[in-house]
Amino acid sequence: VSDRPQGMLIGGEWVPSDGGRLAEVRSPATGEAVGEIPVATPTDVDRAVRAARAAQPDVGGLTVYERATMLERVAALIDERREEIAWDLAQEQGKPYQAEALIEVAVAADMWRDAAGIIRYLEGEVLPSTERDRRIVTVREPRGVYAVVSPWNFPATIPTEYLCAGLAAGNAIVWKPATSTPLTALHLARCIMDAGFPAGSVNVVTGPGGAVGEALVAHPGIDAVGATGSPETGEAIARVAGAKPLLLELGGNCPAIVFADADLERVIARTAMGAFANAGQICDSTERILVHESLREDLVEGLVAAAGRERLGPSLEPETTIGPLHNEATASKVERHLGEAAARGARIHAGGRRAEDFPTALYFPPTVIDGVRPDMSIFREETFGPVAAVTSFDSVEEAVALANDSDLGLVAGLFTEDPGLADDVAARLQAGIVNINDVPTYWQPHTPFGGWSGKRSGVGRLGGKYTVLEMSQIKTLVRYVGTRPPATG
Ligand code: NAD
Repeated sequence: VSDRPQGMLIGGEWVPSDGGRLAEVRSPATGEAVGEIPVATPTDVDRAVRAARAAQPDVGGLTVYERATMLERVAALIDERREEIAWDLAQEQGKPYQAEALIEVAVAADMWRDAAGIIRYLEGEVLPSTERDRRIVTVREPRGVYAVVSPWNFPATIPTEYLCAGLAAGNAIVWKPATSTPLTALHLARCIMDAGFPAGSVNVVTGPGGAVGEALVAHPGIDAVGATGSPETGEAIARVAGAKPLLLELGGNCPAIVFADADLERVIARTAMGAFANAGQICDSTERILVHESLREDLVEGLVAAAGRERLGPSLEPETTIGPLHNEATASKVERHLGEAAARGARIHAGGRRAEDFPTALYFPPTVIDGVRPDMSIFREETFGPVAAVTSFDSVEEAVALANDSDLGLVAGLFTEDPGLADDVAARLQAGIVNINDVPTYWQPHTPFGGWSGKRSGVGRLGGKYTVLEMSQIKTLVRYVGTRPPATG
């Protein structure tokens, strides 16, 4: 089906690993091998970093208009190859080709286009001076060579957030995609090369995170790091990266608060989407539905009906709306959370256990569970499965306390028809984003997205202009403009 490139991309060449080792990529939907990738060695990582260092002056030396034209070409190539990329993405990730993978690839193309617009119009500043004979301006410079580390849940859009902004800002990049979704990465890397970016501006090394990812992040030739993954991974990266500038997008355990006056039909539709999209494997998935006790029963009934309308199935079947979970670790965690909650009195109204009669054991039906309490793992930890988990509250104070009762703070959502209540609660939620009358899962790619300080959801903001700002540094230029040399200093 696909003539995707083979090997890793280093210095513009598709190469095998130095050690010659290969790893299979297996589809969670079928259990079959869908590709093979090299397992990078420390020597490969070193070669990739050197290639990026050699290329960085070429990328940084392009005018922003030249870079913008190339970014637009990447977008056009992704659009042109959309079906081929989405096909591999659906196979290796497990999400439905028709309902989700094609859309993800289209959104990725839009991000490249957007980056072109952002960099063309990114302006510096002229600052006031305390001295008449000094002119002060600020300019944005690349940070240099970035390590980009990306997860498996959105193999096209998440790395694209770093790649398009990083190149727009003039950086060179070494990218370590998720071990289990490297095929999408190879497609994207080829689009970047074919768009005319200098050889070595983006390099791809493949293999396990603990070895390849860590060697990359720790490499002295890496100037800055952008990574999306679990809080544990982010913290491991921070330990080895030391004081290198970090942009970390980590886990979420996002609450949606439903107040007593909320529009219930809307709440049902949106919370079902928020809990079940991408089989719940989204950092801003609607992990905790906090509902006023007066609406609980009706909401649960609506969620059960919504769960019944989903179609669980293999990725490539056109009617599938929920694919399998991505891997066994995720499926076991979902099982453990539900089992523990049910044993402790929570009630499962739909789903609740793995589906049978599918090619792998990773198929998990949309699940609705009610009576979840804050001391249960399903409340405390990110579940990352197609689970609508409902907890009830009696007062506004209790709702806010429940929402903030988490070591993660990425996005929150709230539903009320009272704008004053919405503003008051939004101001008190410890989350980088608050969606009013929508679930935490609602997102527009150009808006600043990231974790609340003091929680474990990450550092910095991704999204359109904000990523370009994070992935560049300010240089201040102070020019003496007097007609005579200054008297002192
Ligand atoms: P993960 O943390 O297991 O892996 C992410 C990436 O890091 C992979 O490429 C992996 O190989 C690499 N890695 C693992 N250990 C490493 C190490 N010690 N050093 C360097 N790299 C290492 O995450 P995952 O299972 O692929 O993705 C799911 C997690 O990602 C969830 O917690 C989810 O919430 C989070 N996530 C966050 C966002 C966000 O924007 N905040 C978006 C998507 C996913």
